[in-house]
Amino acid sequence: MDKLEEITSDGVAVCQPGLRLGQLESEARKKGWELRMYPSTLVKASVGGFLAGGSGGIGSVAHGGLRDFDTVRAFEVVTMEKKPRVVLHEGPAVHEILHAWGTNGILTRIWFALTPAVEWMQLTAAFSTYEEAFQFAESIATGNTWTKRLATVFEWPIPSFFTPIKRLVRADKSLVLIMIAASQADALHAAAIAAGGEVTFTGAFDGPRTQPLLSDYTWNHTTLWAMKADPAYTYLQCGFSLTECREQFRKLRERYGQEILFHIEFMKNGDGVVIPGAIPLVRFSTEERLNDMIAFCRSIGVFVANPHVNYLEDGGRFRPDNIQLLAKQRYDPRGLLNPGKMISFRKQVVTK
Ligand SMILES: Cc1cc2nc3c(=O)[nH]c(=O)nc-3n(C[C@H](O)[C@H](O)[C@H](O)COP(=O)(O)OP(=O)(O)OC[C@H]3O[C@@H](n4cnc5c(N)ncnc54)[C@H](O)[C@@H]3O)c2cc1C
Repeated sequence: MDKLEEITSDGVAVCQPGLRLGQLESEARKKGWELRMYPSTLVKASVGGFLAGGSGGIGSVAHGGLRDFDTVRAFEVVTMEKKPRVVLHEGPAVHEILHAWGTNGILTRIWFALTPAVEWMQLTAAFSTYEEAFQFAESIATGNTWTKRLATVFEWPIPSFFTPIKRLVRADKSLVLIMIAASQADALHAAAIAAGGEVTFTGAFDGPRTQPLLSDYTWNHTTLWAMKADPAYTYLQCGFSLTECREQFRKLRERYGQEILFHIEFMKNGDGVVIPGAIPLVRFSTEERLNDMIAFCRSIGVFVANPHVNYLEDGGRFRPDNIQLLAKQRYDPRGLLNPGKMISFRKQVVTK
């Protein structure tokens, strides 16, 4: 079920869940549209898998996450009842199913809002310190005049893990990755130099097959590259405070040293404010130490969506109003879909 049925005149892709996001991006660009946001798994990930298991990615700096701004317009869900039904979820009702890992229904048809296509350029810049790199990326990410799709910061030694793009990396320096409207590429280049950076690469983005594709090193692909270099690395999913983040970075560094390495992905939150989202790398030693770090983050106001639990409720995306659970009780009363993933669910005795 991988068909793109149509792209409507107002930029909504109507598709089946198995359609690859990379293919949708390519097809949409031909018609003057593009994905609002996509995961770093762009080429292989499906639209259905992204809606059920993902949250955001490249583009989120401008368009927020999957749950924001009506990006997921509607979908049809097939229920796991004795007599299956096809139920249309539109508007706020999509949140009953979104990011519930297929626990409460099977997406079969999706209305996914796009945005007008932009001619993008990719740029990397190296900075002597993490503070300088962060400051520069923050000014681009939060500056209203910049049209951007990606604003990422890696402190050293994270860039050393990116072996295929070694030539873009400078030893001992933090690296910033930006996707910017081509019309602003020269201005961005000048801004990077003025901020003390060395521009190590600029190149056009020509769809998912672009090489190098900078998004291959961002979001959770960063973690993948780190784990390839050293399997002791793991990660957290964090949201830093826009106003307190420097103090939060300082406190974390003071307590954990190089056990935590800063990887920032700027993203717009549901209120329309661009904040430093983060997928910091963590050098794993013990479960206690990892839990201590999560608790400490939360104690200093850093949001953590814990990726180290394999059930929905503690992962940071469970809805406090329980609408995902209520949908499961309605649509999958026997608990056949992804059993064990939603631990608050209790099977109902169905006699007929
Ligand atoms: C290296 C790496 C990088 C990643 N980067 C990101 C990122 O940047 N942003 C992000 O949000 N996520 C990221 N992810 C998580 C995930 O890979 C993506 O969200 C991706 O979109 C999942 O798509 P998929 O087609 O591979 O889904 P799958 O892994 O096949 O499925 C994901 C979940 O959705 C369920 N599902 C699939 N299809 C349906 C359907 N039709 N109906 C109901 N449930 C369904 C599956 O049962 C499963 O629980 C990353 C993962 C990895 C391993």
